[in-house]
Amino acid sequence: MNGFRNFMTGRYGTDQLTVALIILGMVLTFTGDVFNLNLLTLISYAAFLMSIYRTLSKNIIARRKENTKFLHYWNPAKDWLSTKYSILKSNKSYKYFKCPNCKQELRVPRGRGKISVTCQKCHTKFIQKS
Ligand SMILES: [Zn+2]
Repeated sequence: MNGFRNFMTGRYGTDQLTVALIILGMVLTFTGDVFNLNLLTLISYAAFLMSIYRTLSKNIIARRKENTKFLHYWNPAKDWLSTKYSILKSNKSYKYFKCPNCKQELRVPRGRGKISVTCQKCHTKFIQKS
């Protein structure tokens, strides 16, 4: 274990970009396998090699710059995905529909049978299945 610690001294180690490269490599390997596409498998090797290279690299400043660049694009994508995911999750507990009068998007908790709804925007009252 001590030898490994000495070996890793002064090396960059892992970051979000390295983890992303490993995940990308696994996805490409799997996809290449399923659809029998050798090119994808080849690209997956490149992703794996790149992740190893970055982990063992001693040029810490350059690796940090790459990771910052990666996060600049990844963070907005991650936020978008997590918003979509939370909407998908809340679809189980809420029913979404539009007000028949003003088309305002409304939601009610699911599983309450037919309930009387009052639109928050135009105050129209109507019956809605929940
Ligand atoms: Zn309305």
